This record gives sequence, C-alpha cells and structure tokens, in this order.
Amino acid sequence: MLPLLLIILTIIGLLVIMRREAGSIAATGMTGIAGLIGILIGAPLTGVILLIVTAIIAACGLPALRRRWLTPRLFSLFKTVAPNVSDTERAALDAGSVGWDGELFTGRPNWNQLMNQRFDGVNEEEQAFIDHQCHVAAGMCNAWEIARERTDLPAELWDYLKREGFFGMIIPKEYGGLGFSAKAQSLVLQKLAVNETLMVTVGVPNSLGPGELLLKYGTQQQKDHYLPRLADGRELPCFGLTGPRAGSDATALPDTGIVCKQVIDGQEVLGLRLNFEKRWITLAPIATVIGLAFRMFDPDGLLGDTQDLGITCALIPRQTPGIDIGRRHHPIGSPFMNGPIKGKDVFVPIDTIIGGPEMAGQGWRMLVECLSVGRCITLPSGATGTARYALGWTGGFARLRRQFNLPIAEMEGIQEPLARMAALTYIAQSTVLQTANMIDHGERPAVPSAILKSQLTEFQRRVLADAMDVHGGKAVTLGPRNYLGIGYSANPVAITVEGANIMTRNLMIFGQGAIRCHPYVLDELAAKDANDVQAFDKAIFAHAGLIFGNAARALTQGLGIGKTTTPFDEVAAPYAQDVARLSAGFGLCADAAMASLGSRLKSREMLSARLGDVLSNLYLTSMVLKQWHESDNVEGEATLLHYSCRFLLYRAEQAFVELFDNFPNRGMARVLARIVMPLGRHWHQPTDDLTREIAQAVSRPTMLREKLLDNTWDYQGSDQRDNPLARYNALLEDYPRAEPLYRRIDKAYSKGEIDADALHPEQRLEAAYATGLISEEDADFMRDFEARVLDMLTVDDFAFDAFALHRDKVVEHDIA
Ligand SMILES: Cc1cc2nc3c(=O)[nH]c(=O)nc-3n(C[C@H](O)[C@H](O)[C@H](O)COP(=O)(O)OP(=O)(O)OC[C@H]3O[C@@H](n4cnc5c(N)ncnc54)[C@H](O)[C@@H]3O)c2cc1C
Repeated sequence: MLPLLLIILTIIGLLVIMRREAGSIAATGMTGIAGLIGILIGAPLTGVILLIVTAIIAACGLPALRRRWLTPRLFSLFKTVAPNVSDTERAALDAGSVGWDGELFTGRPNWNQLMNQRFDGVNEEEQAFIDHQCHVAAGMCNAWEIARERTDLPAELWDYLKREGFFGMIIPKEYGGLGFSAKAQSLVLQKLAVNETLMVTVGVPNSLGPGELLLKYGTQQQKDHYLPRLADGRELPCFGLTGPRAGSDATALPDTGIVCKQVIDGQEVLGLRLNFEKRWITLAPIATVIGLAFRMFDPDGLLGDTQDLGITCALIPRQTPGIDIGRRHHPIGSPFMNGPIKGKDVFVPIDTIIGGPEMAGQGWRMLVECLSVGRCITLPSGATGTARYALGWTGGFARLRRQFNLPIAEMEGIQEPLARMAALTYIAQSTVLQTANMIDHGERPAVPSAILKSQLTEFQRRVLADAMDVHGGKAVTLGPRNYLGIGYSANPVAITVEGANIMTRNLMIFGQGAIRCHPYVLDELAAKDANDVQAFDKAIFAHAGLIFGNAARALTQGLGIGKTTTPFDEVAAPYAQDVARLSAGFGLCADAAMASLGSRLKSREMLSARLGDVLSNLYLTSMVLKQWHESDNVEGEATLLHYSCRFLLYRAEQAFVELFDNFPNRGMARVLARIVMPLGRHWHQPTDDLTREIAQAVSRPTMLREKLLDNTWDYQGSDQRDNPLARYNALLEDYPRAEPLYRRIDKAYSKGEIDADALHPEQRLEAAYATGLISEEDADFMRDFEARVLDMLTVDDFAFDAFALHRDKVVEHDIA
C-alpha cells in the first residue's frame, strides 16, 4: 500500500512541477527525495525505481550533464529535420507582431495580455462620420441600378466619397486624410456593406495598396506629393501584384523592371524599363496611379553589384507611355471596378520606387508587413457588415412571412439557421472589433489577419446561404426588390482575394503561426542558422519544459483538476477556462506534429489545417469573451454568448478529433488523444433551447436585435432610397399588436366563424371586422400592416426581352 501511495504522490508532484514548468532541478530533487523515502520506509524496489528515474531526469535535464552528451546529438538531429525557411517565408515570418495568438501557442494564455488592451470604442468625430457620412453614402446606392443598369456607382456618389474623404481614412490628418482608428475604419466598412460594390470601392484604397505603402515606406517627397491627393480623391490608386501566372504564389511574378538609362528632354535619366501583365486589379479601370510589384534586375550594375534585386514596388502614373489600362473584368455579383493592366517597355525614373532606390528588392517584405493590418480590417469588416444586414433582413422576413398560418420564424427548421446566423454575426462582430482594437494599441497581428480573413469570410458565406434559404423564392428572384441576391452572388470575391481561403486555412494559419508565434521555434531555427549549440540548448530545453508543461496542463484540466483563474464573470469564465485547457492541448499537439513530421508537415496540409482550425476557434472564442466582458450586455445576450462559445469550442474539439484520427504516428495519436481529451469530448453543438431563444430574439424588436444591428444603415427617409432594413424594423415594432389579431382571426376562420372562401388574409380581416371580431381601429391597423407586409413579399417581373443585351438575339417563341 505504502509504495503505491508513494508512487501516486510522486506522479502528482511531477505533474505539479510540469504544470508550473519549474524545471529539471525541481523534478530531480523531488523524485530523488521520493526514492530515498522509499528506501527508508522499507520499499526498496520502489525506492530504487524512483532513484533510476531521478538519474534519467538529471542526465537529460540538468544543464551541466545534458550539454555534454545530449545537446550535441539533438542539435545534429534537429539540423536534419528542421524545415528550411526560404527568404520569402522569412519575410512573412518577420512581418507583423505576435500578441494573443502567441499566448494561445504557449498553452498557458495570460489573459492580462489581452485584457490590458482596453476597448474604448470610437471617438466623437469618428462616430459622427459613421452616423452621417456613411448614412448618406449608403442611401445613395441602389443595388439593382448599380449591379445591372449602370455597372458602376452613380457619379454623385463617387463625388461624395471623394469629397468626404472616404478614400483617405488611413491617411493622417496632417496630409489631409481622416486619420481614423482601425475600429472606426471597420465600423465604416460594416455600415457600407449594405452594398458590396460600395464597400469594396471604399475598402480597397484604405487597405493594402499605395496609401499604406507610402505611409510606411514612402520618401518624404512621395508622401508630400501623393498623400494629400489620395486623401481628397484627386488620385485614385490601385495595386497590381497578381498576373496570369502568379496568383496565390505571388512571389513567382514574371514581371520585370530592368535598371537602365534613357534620354528625356535632352537629359539622361536613370530609371526602370518595365514589362508586365497584371489581371484582376481592383480600381484599375479608373485608377490614376498604379502601385506595381515586379522583379527588379540591374544587369549593367548601374546601382551596384547585385543583379537580381528581387521584388520591388513602384508608383506609376496612369498616363505613362506603354501602359495599356482601362478594360474591365466582370467580378461575380458585384460590378466594382476591376480590370487588367499591361505594360510594354514602360520607362519610369528610379525615384518612382516606393521609398526610393534604397527600397529596391524590399517589395515582398513591405507587402506582407502591410497585409497584417489591412487583412484584419477590410474583408473581415465587409463580411461582418454583410452578415449583420443579412441577419436584420432575415429576422424581419421570418417573422412576417406566414405559412401554415404561422410566421416561419416559429418553425424549428427556420429557427436553426436564424440562430446560427445570429451567432456567426456576433462572433464576427466581436472578433473584427477586438482585433481592430489591438491594431489601435500598436499591434500588427499577422497570424490573426489570416484567421480573420478566412474564418469571417467563411462565416459570411454561411450566413448568406442561410439567409437565402430562409427567404426562399423572394431572394432567388432578382430585381430592385431583392436586397439579398446580389450580395450573395458576390461572396466568392471575398473568399478568393487577399489570400484564397483554402490556401490560407491549409498553409498559412498554422504554418506561419507554428514558427511565428511559438515561444521557442524561431530561436531554435536561428540557433541552427548560426550553428550556435549553446543557444540551441537553451531554446530546446525550455521547449521541452513547455511540452511537459502542456501535457500536464492539458491532462489535469481535462480531468477537471486545477482549472485556471480568469478575469471573466461566472457566465464567461467556464469558456475561458476551456480556452486555456484546449490551448495546452493545442501547444502539445503542435509540438508533436512538428517533432514527428518535421519539414513534411508543410505538405501535410490537411493536418496543418486542423491545427489551424483549433487555433482559429480558440482565437475567436477569446474575442467573443473579451467583447462580452467590455460591452454593455443586453437582455438575451448571455444566450447568444453560450451558443457562440459552445459552437466554437465544439469546432475546436472536432478539429482535435479529426487530427487524432489522421495523425500518421498512430501510437502518438492515441497518447495525445488520452492527454488532450481524457474524458472524451467536453463540448456538444448548442442545444435546441438556445437555438429557439435566439431565433425568437432576432426576429422580434428586442434589445439583442438592436445591439446586433447597431451602426447599420437602418433609416428610412423620403430623401433616401428605399431601405428594407428600416422597413422590417418598423414592421417588427408593430408586430406585437398584429400577433394576437392574427391569432384571433385565424382561430375564428378555423372554427368556421368566418366564411370559408375568405382565402386572402385581407379578406379574412374584413370578414373578422364585419362579424365584430375585431374593432375598427384594429381593422385599420391590420389593413395597413398587411399592405406593408405584402409589399415586402412582392418580387419583380420584367418585360420579356428586358435582360437581352442584344435585342436582335431574342428568340421569337412560337406560343400560338
Ligand atoms: C475580384 C478580384 C479582385 C482582385 N483584386 C486584386 C488587386 O487589386 N490586386 C492584386 O494584385 N490582386 C487582386 N486579385 C487577385 C487575388 O488576390 C488572387 O485571385 C488570389 O490571390 C488567388 O489567386 P488565384 O485566383 O490565381 O488562385 P490560384 O493561385 O490559381 O489558386 C487556385 C486555388 O488553389 C488554392 N491554392 C493555391 N496554392 C495553394 C496551396 N499551397 N495550398 C492549398 N491550396 C492552394 C487556392 O486557395 C485556390 O483555391 C483579385 C482577384 C479577384 C478575383
């Protein structure tokens, strides 16, 4: 009995030491003392076993011993299995900062790191812009007219956008820009997402492109010239990276810039001869200045000894001879300006390079550095805004559309997508605002930018598909009355641009995170490159401590022992504790995958994607928890928090399960599964009760619905175009009065108190009024209510040949 007790106590002691990462000295001391106690209490076998364990720990763990025999061998092995990091990858790895994503990699996230970045909202000036200018701009676009009749924004809207500084949100005030915070930019784009073309048109110049590149890297002369002109719309920029041969693998671009001299106006000018072919360049057809990425060569040594200088970015005026620009592509769903640009023997002076000749060859680094901010804001905000409008419209439609004598919002089949839409919207809104807040606190979140871009645009895809399903034929039928269909068909644009989602999920999130955010891998790779065995020893044994620590944390917390403390209230704390638990499991599995697969992990994309999914879901959960903690919560929000966190943590565990099912080393997979999920799955899909409650709340005029739709364009005035969201909101306000009247009339009809041939709702209410079932006042109310509802349900029809671009090609059908 005593030996068994001693072994159990030793294991508990070791787990405590491992959890705290207290080091090999503590572990050696503890097992050594246990071994001696074993001998003293008359359990020699146990004592000897424990002393052998002590010797092994000492040999492997104590620095003086391990450096003699273990470290050199490990270093040799590491050199053979560690991945080689290309220059392109290194540029990506060096870009941006590591924040909460790094905490999740440690397996013991420090919530203070996150909570210290307080969310203070936007300032008065920014809020006034969102309330007024965004409201005016949104009210000036008519989706049908833009998409089908004009294939462009109206001229007065272009003028308004330029005049009010929409294209200069990121440009500081000293250059005439708006100098908005990242949070304000996000809220502006969310509000403008009522129209996809408007959102993209404003989003792109404020994202990755000439504006940001100039701000960060431009020479003072370039800044002074271009920034004021970009801020007030005198110049409209585009940025050309992609071409027919270089898409996702943008560094493979075959476009060239050769350093040369040319005589201009009798003077010899040092410059570049550019030959390029770009496609899909947003704003290109109307851009006045082109940001261009190309590979720069100096074959005659005019700048120095290096011939192949690498990727370089330059700013080129549209009118430069040799440029062929102005044709358009036709992006699916949304006719924003997009087109090809070609250049043949285009000569530009050398100072067109952004940042001047010193920045030759720095283009890729500049681009990935800027991407870490822009990619957190533009597409994720567009996705969030789109989801919020879709939710607002769908909640309204579902409450007002009646089938089988019931609002379809009362049907469980509809409640399921409604609740899912609400949760995805809530998660997206929390994530994009909290990440923007990190940027406002000085971070440049590289890995989160990949998480936000891919996850939130996937949410957008799901929300739009759900919205379409709930609307049925109403959204399938295109025309001016269809507020959803055009945005739905434009969704693949967001999925594809700024790093297509498949690649981002499979390659970037974990691939970049594993090296970038891991506390020790970067140090180990640096030690390898420098052939520094001392540095390697330091990093690898700290790393070993982390692995043991994560194993102990994952196992004990998985068994419900030693839960972490968190700064959250009792509603949110259990989810935060589980983020910490799964983060330990994630850290352990990430190390196991890297150790067992080495450089092959790069090509095992499905495994990498699942690890990325765990990280993504833990990140999203953290953002939801922080938003909950810092905002004024409204009635019903706790239900949405429960749904959202369960949904995300379920997905995180699902990714673990699939990882274990497919992990190549089967023995290791079984051990990992026992440690990370010792009691099996903890989380299940959100319950039907949560689903019902949320669906009710978002299809009625509740505080929760109001909060989810805060800062959207929901105003109906005679000066602006028709606004379906405002109309639904108004109808929902009246719905509580209509509901009992519907019930009364329907009950009377089913009992035969109203004539059976009163088939239309309008006929029934007249019959109910005639029989005295409802008052005159109620009848008036219902007449008006029904007319407004019918108007929302109505779809468009057109002349037979309305859609034929060429009337002479219309078929004359023989229908006699
Ligand atoms: C409407 C629109 C606007 C755009 N605007 C601009 C712009 O303003 N400026 C600009 O420079 N570019 C722009 N682009 C280009 C855009 O960034 C690229 O389309 C995008 O990077 C993907 O390239 P691709 O379409 O050639 O896909 P491909 O590279 O051909 O990829 C095809 C598929 O393979 C997947 N894939 C590729 N590599 C991997 C991998 N290693 N692992 C797993 N999957 C992989 C991708 O995810 C994708 O699903 C725009 C594109 C569009 C469609």
